[in-house]
This record gives sequence, C-alpha cells and structure tokens, in this order.
Amino acid sequence: MAISEKVSEFMEKSSWIRKMFEEGIRLKQEFGEENVFDLSLGNPVMEPPEEVLKALVESAQDETPGLHRYMPNAGFADVRTVIAESLSPECKVELSANDVLMVCGAAGGLNITLKTLLDLGDEVIIFTPYFVEYLFYADNHGGKAVPVPTGDDFHLDFSALKNALNEKTKAVIINSPNNPTGVVYSRKELRDLADILKTHSNRFGKAVHLISDDPYKKITFDGVEAPNILEFYDNSIYITSHSKDIALPGERIGFVAVHPRCEDAGPIMAGLIFCNRVLGFVNAPALIQRVVKQVQSVTVDVEQYRRKRDYLYKELTRIGYDVVKPQGAFYFFPKSPLEDEVEFVRKLAENKVLVVPGRGFGLPGYFRISYCFPDSVIEGSILGFEQAFRAF
Ligand code: PLP
Repeated sequence: MAISEKVSEFMEKSSWIRKMFEEGIRLKQEFGEENVFDLSLGNPVMEPPEEVLKALVESAQDETPGLHRYMPNAGFADVRTVIAESLSPECKVELSANDVLMVCGAAGGLNITLKTLLDLGDEVIIFTPYFVEYLFYADNHGGKAVPVPTGDDFHLDFSALKNALNEKTKAVIINSPNNPTGVVYSRKELRDLADILKTHSNRFGKAVHLISDDPYKKITFDGVEAPNILEFYDNSIYITSHSKDIALPGERIGFVAVHPRCEDAGPIMAGLIFCNRVLGFVNAPALIQRVVKQVQSVTVDVEQYRRKRDYLYKELTRIGYDVVKPQGAFYFFPKSPLEDEVEFVRKLAENKVLVVPGRGFGLPGYFRISYCFPDSVIEGSILGFEQAFRAF
C-alpha cells in the first residue's frame, strides 16, 4: 500500500466522526434531509456575529499597499498587541505582543507547541474523554499521548494524574469548557492542578508545561467562569481560536500566548515562530488576522446555546438518560443505556439520530451529542432518542 502503516492505522482509530458523517449522508439520501437528525459534528451552524462580518468586508476593501504580503511568522505586530491587551486583564498577567503568536486555528497552535516542546518519546498527559486529535498531534512530533481517567463527573482526578506523572512527562493538555463533556474546570481545580505540576516539576528538576487548549473559552452558561490558566501556572501556554466563539472555523485563525514567566519563555516563543514556518503554516492568514483584531470583545449569542442545552437536558433526563449537565461548549456526553455504546449508537441511527460513540473520545460506554444545530434538528431528534432508549 502506498500510504504508511501508521497513517492507515490512525485513520481507522479516528474514523468514528467520519463514519457517522457518511452514515448521515446515506440516511439523508434514503429518508430525506429533514427526516435525519445529525448531531455528530462540532461545526456550528450559527453565522458569525454582524460586527465580524462588517469587519471582514471593511478589511477586504482596505487598499493600503502591502496587506497581502509575507509578514513575520508570528503574525502582524499590531494584531498581537491588541490581543495581548485584551488578554492581560483576563489572566491577570501583563502580556505584550512578544508573548502572543497568531496561528491557523487551535489545531495549528497545538501542533507548533508540541513540535517546539517534544523530544522523541516525551509523554503528554491528556484527560479521558479527550479530543481524539491530541493522540495524533503528539505522535506528529515524536511524543506519546498518555490518557488519564477523570472522575464520574468528568472533573480532574488528581490521584490518577499523580500516578501518570513521571520523568518523561513533558506536557499536560487540558480543555475547558470541554469537548466532549461540556465540563468547565473551576479556579480551585486549576489551582490544585498547578500545585501538583509545580511539585512534580521541582521534584524532577524540569518544568512540566501546561497547555490549555480552549477554543470554547467564551461559551459558558449561567454565569460560570472559565478561568485562564495563565493566572495559575507560570509554565503555561494558552491556545485558543475563533472557530467557536465567533463561528469562523473555516477561516483558520487563533492565537497562542506563552506565560512571560514561563521557564525558557524566549526560546519557546522563538521555537513556536520557527515551527509555524517549517510546518508550512508560515503565518496565520493575513486578512482574517486584521478582522479578529477588531472584534476581540465580540462573541456569538451564547444565550442561544444555553437555551438549546436547557431544552436537550430537560428532554434527555425526562427520557431517563444519565448525563452530566454541561456548563459550557456545545456538547453532551451521556452514558449509553447499553454497555456497548456502538450498538446503542446504531440503534439511534436506525431512529434517524446521529451521534458519536464515546470510544471516539477514548471512553467507551458513553456517546457524544453536539447541539450547535438549528432548534428544528434538536427538537426532531427527541423522538429517536426516546425510541432508542425504550428499545432496551
Ligand atoms: N481543540 C478542541 C477541544 C476542539 O474541539 C477543536 C475543534 O473542534 C479544536 C481544538 C480545533 O479547533 P480549531 O478549529 O480552532 O483548529
């Protein structure tokens, strides 16, 4: 076969979302688009806010010479200055443009960060259930993702973390609000996590870097706060994007902020800039950098997601599903009524509802529902959720 064994194996491992997507196409052809309720993808149907679209049009019409040329690999300095200024009060750390780097989405940010940090065989702790791409991103750069279980409520299990930390641990990735559970880590939880990592770093005489991958940061409900990791831990790197908060996933724009007190902050930033170049991103897209500079305080209407969450939570619990109420992002991660969640997901598909099996996130026995869809799709799915549940 022309493709490598590793890529072939990884494609199989990561195929759950794609399989559901293909199943959706098949079902829609057979039963009609409006009769299939596809809750498998995290691709928001919400349009970007008006201010974003206006900034996009204005930026596209700007005829100042040079705006479409190559630029420093870190991105436009004025854009990074605005981001540093807006982020500093949130994380209670004084950031400058030199601490911020523009990237091609959180995915681009994660890849350049892991490439910068990892030596062959270094371990990266991730928490189960996890965003499956972490496995492949760590491998891309010679590292090994080490999944660590969370508690029943999907919050961090510190004794499991302590058991997993060792001399090979180079980084820990957290994601809050979380995909796939919707859980948000509290200030206390982050402070306790930071204390454990400080103790471990001192014991082994080398820093464990804490990477927070937070594209859902601004999507929280009921006044719940998603604190910024830079506030709690010096050796931290904050990665976010505008894929979810202003609904621009196709534009591939985000940023990385390195804590200015991070050990080797200068070499790390230089490494990130170099890796942005040599991984072939070169720089984040110019036009959309100029757009996001103007809309750092804008967010999609989070209230709409809250309303959808409340509706779905009420219906799922009425039917009898065992589910943690999400505090952010736009996912539910209910327990499967059948131990084999793949079989249950098939039953849901027979009832025209598409979701993703938990093993696609490293945790069999659960499944993920995405609710970034129109109300009609969410409401239409309830009958299928009920029939599949009652079938067992
Ligand atoms: N991290 C998590 C947890 C995600 O859910 C996603 C996208 O769904 C990403 C990273 C990638 O985001 P981006 O589109 O900004 O690359």
